[in-house]
Amino acid sequence: MPEPRRRFLQGLSAMPLLGSQIEAAPAPRDWFAELGVRSFINAAGTYTRLTSCKMPPEVMEAMNTASQRFVNLDELQTAVGTRIASMLQCEAAMVTSGAAGAITVGAAACLAGKNPERIALLPHATGFPHQVVLQRTHHTNYEHSLLTAGARLIEVETEDDIERAAPQAAMMFFLNDATPRSTISHERWVAISKRLKIPTMIDAAADVPPVENLFRFTAMGFDLVAISGGKGIRGPQSSGLLLGRRDLIEAARLNTSPNSATVARGMKVNKEEIVGLLAALELYLARDHQADWKEWSRRAELIRDSAARVAGVTAEVYVPPVANRVPHVRISWDRSHLSLAPEEAMARLRSGSPSIEACPESDDKYLILNTWMLEPGETEIVAERVQAVLAR
Ligand SMILES: *Cc1c(COP(=O)(O)O)cnc(C)c1O
Repeated sequence: MPEPRRRFLQGLSAMPLLGSQIEAAPAPRDWFAELGVRSFINAAGTYTRLTSCKMPPEVMEAMNTASQRFVNLDELQTAVGTRIASMLQCEAAMVTSGAAGAITVGAAACLAGKNPERIALLPHATGFPHQVVLQRTHHTNYEHSLLTAGARLIEVETEDDIERAAPQAAMMFFLNDATPRSTISHERWVAISKRLKIPTMIDAAADVPPVENLFRFTAMGFDLVAISGGKGIRGPQSSGLLLGRRDLIEAARLNTSPNSATVARGMKVNKEEIVGLLAALELYLARDHQADWKEWSRRAELIRDSAARVAGVTAEVYVPPVANRVPHVRISWDRSHLSLAPEEAMARLRSGSPSIEACPESDDKYLILNTWMLEPGETEIVAERVQAVLAR
């Protein structure tokens, strides 16, 4: 400690009365309170509408530092992409505007490649292949991200269907979350794409954790992998990762900001987000993932046990199979005993103080709570409030 500061502090402790009267640093401006915008305990998970995750202070610090200097955005993307590719053991990488943005720039890369005329034409891919092949069960709420680039979707069910679509196909798309309902496995999908020489992309946006999923799909041979930066990785909410083949990543970059006349120019990523995601990824890789899992499970069990103490209530911990693969609590109750719909239970948690958001996946049968975005001390509050809402 520097000498003058030590002396100052010693002075304070010698004057306890005066010391206690020294004012703490002013509280930071509370923008949400000022705006009258409700903030809440996030027992929902990484939902965009609910602002998904909190960035660790180290990420904010990286973004803050980056914000104080000018750099060339292309040079920064190249350097960060190289670093991320080496961290994730893949050929190339770039930071995108969310996984949704990764899907669009990746699709643009598959449609237009590095061809300047084609890049300028997108999303109107007239005169060159622009069909994206996907399994019937792999449609997603996010396929506008493919359509935006100019893709036309072609549904397939069998390997023969893919063969027939191949001459017009620019890409084969796989939704990782649809794994359990796929008729063609990851491995077959990749093998067919290699044989037909059609690039493949996998959307694994919400599929970290497990951490292995950051490595697994490029290792399997997927040419492009889209992952959210602002979900499990806890980077900037509007950031994402596109990992994969060098030539395709280079093409993707040509199809987006800072290049003006491109289909994805609106999917800008700024230097703060680029550096922020890198910082978040470093932190995430260095975490003790087993300890995280234990802590999430402890929270889930605490909420489960608290809810289950109410007569007529059944509560269990479960883990979704692919996306959001973290411990959740699923609560149902005897409706003849308590005629409260899960939706009403959610509304009560929301309107209480502090406000609590339950998982939007809650349905007519279950109230669902997710534990991985809870902060220290919040689990106990959630457990107590859930019990109170059900015991009413
Ligand atoms: C969340 C999600 C996306 C979009 O990710 P962002 O990072 O929010 O852009 C795309 N696909 C799937 C399956 C997702 O769950």
